[in-house]
Amino acid sequence: MKYLDEFRDPDLALRLIDSIRNTASRRWPIMEVCGGQTHSLLRHGIDAALHDAVELIHGPGCPVCVTNMAVIDQAIRLASRPDVVLCCFGDMMRVPGSTTSLAAARAAGAKVRAVYSPLDAVLLAEKHPDRNVVMFAVGFETTAPATALAVLHAARRNLTNFSLLVAHVRVQPAMEAILDAPDNRVAAFLAAGHVCTVVGYASYDALCRRYHVPVVVTGFEPVDLLLGLQACVQQLESGQAYVDNCYGRSAQRDGNSQALNVIDEVYEACDSEWRGVGLVRNGGLRLKPQWRRFDAALLEPVAELTVLDAGPCRAGDVLCGRLKPPDCEAFGSRCTPDAPLGTPMVSSEGACAAYYRHQPELPRHV
Ligand code: SF4
Repeated sequence: MKYLDEFRDPDLALRLIDSIRNTASRRWPIMEVCGGQTHSLLRHGIDAALHDAVELIHGPGCPVCVTNMAVIDQAIRLASRPDVVLCCFGDMMRVPGSTTSLAAARAAGAKVRAVYSPLDAVLLAEKHPDRNVVMFAVGFETTAPATALAVLHAARRNLTNFSLLVAHVRVQPAMEAILDAPDNRVAAFLAAGHVCTVVGYASYDALCRRYHVPVVVTGFEPVDLLLGLQACVQQLESGQAYVDNCYGRSAQRDGNSQALNVIDEVYEACDSEWRGVGLVRNGGLRLKPQWRRFDAALLEPVAELTVLDAGPCRAGDVLCGRLKPPDCEAFGSRCTPDAPLGTPMVSSEGACAAYYRHQPELPRHV
């Protein structure tokens, strides 16, 4: 299949591995920002193949993992109201709030519906004018255009029973927060190719200059990832730090103007409390004042309280790259995909789930 097969070529992958290992004079700590990249790196054994040349630090790029627990509680309260149907993407269902999840709330009678598109929620609102239909708007800049478009459609149809519970997060401010941390070890980033497809990568120029850190836009196939790591290692070895694009078949420097226009029409940046990470300056999106009538907080205000993950879960350390999942005491024993203690084990993009799924030989703590 064009655009896939050539990026899964095993001979090319082996040549790239040799090249990276021959180029690296030391083991470089490089963060892959996105959880999808983490899964692909582990699934294809790239972490092991490059063990001597690259230390992969897994980033916080899993929107399900970083959605604030207080917002999940708010979603559950909304879904439990008799007048509300709460729509969400399927991967939010099992994410634990402070006491329960949307899936458990649905089993107990709450009206929660998984949708493939936010526009499905708009159609549902049009069909059921007696119900308030709330779309749980979660995700990075990749999903924000679709939820913004849902608001514009609802406005055009004069719907007063459609709203958004907005929990969108923005990638670049989180990367800057990681670099600002006193214990930061990240020497270079593999930037998330799908996010850059929407927002472009021009804004990384300033980040590279300010922190002297290479940023390489990278896709998700094994050759994509190896090309990205090769570009990072070459820059690090030569003391350079600039933005490079190894995902040219999808990401362009200025992004997708139509998607950016829709985001810009509906949303504005705001500070955001990321689960496990803390406050990220400009790390979230909120509705602009002219669209606040579509804010589900008008139905059910969000609680001020930010509840932390309880018990042994060290999701915050995993999401900030301070801890590898197998080093968590609960990994594979008290915490598994069937009985997860924290979001990185729940989410299909979570780092803990990646290790559990793709490295079954790892010892499980008892
Ligand atoms: S293995 Fe489970 S308990 Fe440990 S950090 Fe990951 S999600 Fe939390």
